[in-house]
Amino acid sequence: MDYQEIIDRIYREVQPLTAQGKVADYIPALSSVDRNNLGISVHHIKGEKYGVGQVNIPFSIQSISKVFSFTLAYEAVGEAIWERLGKEPSGTAFNSLVQIEYEHGIPRNPFINAGALVVADIILSNYRYPWREFLDFVRNISNDDTINSNEEVARSEKETGHRNAALAHLMYGFKNIKNPVEEVLDFYFMQCAIEMCAESLSRSFLFLANHGVVPYSGEALLSLSQAKRLNALMLMAGLYNESGDFAYKVGLPGKSGVGGGIVAVFPKNLSICVWSPAINEYGNSVAGIEALKRFTSYTEMSVF
Ligand code: GLU
Repeated sequence: MDYQEIIDRIYREVQPLTAQGKVADYIPALSSVDRNNLGISVHHIKGEKYGVGQVNIPFSIQSISKVFSFTLAYEAVGEAIWERLGKEPSGTAFNSLVQIEYEHGIPRNPFINAGALVVADIILSNYRYPWREFLDFVRNISNDDTINSNEEVARSEKETGHRNAALAHLMYGFKNIKNPVEEVLDFYFMQCAIEMCAESLSRSFLFLANHGVVPYSGEALLSLSQAKRLNALMLMAGLYNESGDFAYKVGLPGKSGVGGGIVAVFPKNLSICVWSPAINEYGNSVAGIEALKRFTSYTEMSVF
């Protein structure tokens, strides 16, 4: 299969869609990103990589970081993680408060904001140098030592992240957040503000396409069954309240962020990242979804 030719074609076809949707502005520091950016990066587990467009420009990964934090927390506490989190689609917006109240502080899954706050709390309780170890983990799995969090974006989110603060306080009240709320929020905002380019993001998801093992280093991050479970979670909940539609149209597990990135994996084959900053009302990149839909149509790849 000529992946380069396929993504070149997709790049040309979806470029007009970068004019649709809106660049996230509820986090003020994100609003200045140029909406014309479009990049597609593919990594095969056997080592080949393909790219087109802006694949080397770092952008705010936002909720994509929830896959990394969940992996680290899952490594630390194993199946006990499910005592504090669900594994069901939420059917509500990523930052919704109502469900947490009537489900007694247990988030539906690790990828809505409430779930990611619990995951951050688990990392704070189980790692000696939580932020350092988290950042090292992200750098390690993406084989990119230049990765950092943008403190201006983190601060901007802290100043305006009242819904996240409300979620964390509510869950503290239900005893599902155990560390001081401020510390949990700081960790969460810093993880969301990590900046990575499409190429590094695509590379960083290879372990999920390879049964939990980083293909180029041989390092096992998760067991085969844990990697399958994480992929199942992404399929159910990786694109917020549009996850069903994404499964229907694209047919791969994936994770999006309001910075306009989407990463998807085709198990035993490859990972792919598309970045286009303008997002739809669910918080997902408009051109990104269309690019991935075309990718699985043209390559006839799907988990189904
Ligand atoms: N930091 C963002 C928030 O908590 C992440 C949202 C996202 O990417 O969906 O609102």
